[in-house]
Amino acid sequence: MKQEIVLTHEFVEYIPNDLKERTIYVSMAFATVVHKCCCGCGNEVVTPLSPTDWKLIFDGHSVSLHPSIGNWNFACQSHYWIRGNKVKWASQWSQEEINAGRFHDSLAKEKYFSSTKTLDVHDAIVSSREVEAGTGKPKRSLWQKLKRWLFRANAS
Ligand SMILES: [Zn+2]
Repeated sequence: MKQEIVLTHEFVEYIPNDLKERTIYVSMAFATVVHKCCCGCGNEVVTPLSPTDWKLIFDGHSVSLHPSIGNWNFACQSHYWIRGNKVKWASQWSQEEINAGRFHDSLAKEKYFSSTKTLDVHDAIVSSREVEAGTGKPKRSLWQKLKRWLFRANAS
């Protein structure tokens, strides 16, 4: 049984380079939420906010993310929900369940993006996700890409 973890949240414009543990960084400007994996492995988890990615609920005191966060690309394979700044651990998914989830995701995206004009940052996120799914590269590459994009935006 893992202990209950309580997180804090910070609203930021740009996601900082050094993330604190147990802190949820929310950038409304980039519709992105980043936190360090709640298992303590140190990996950075990037959850883009969009109709087909994650949704953020802010009740004035705490934040929740929907759907759950499944870090299949990390060695820890942790899977949890963030509800009212609290971490609710889920049981580990089987590979079959992971594949089913990914298939559902890609269907939802296809449906959404075929009917909507998208922002550049979104294209970057989606295309790097496809690369990630195809080669099994760690999610970090997505974050590096996003970081580069953020810093480019920052400099201009
Ligand atoms: Zn982890």
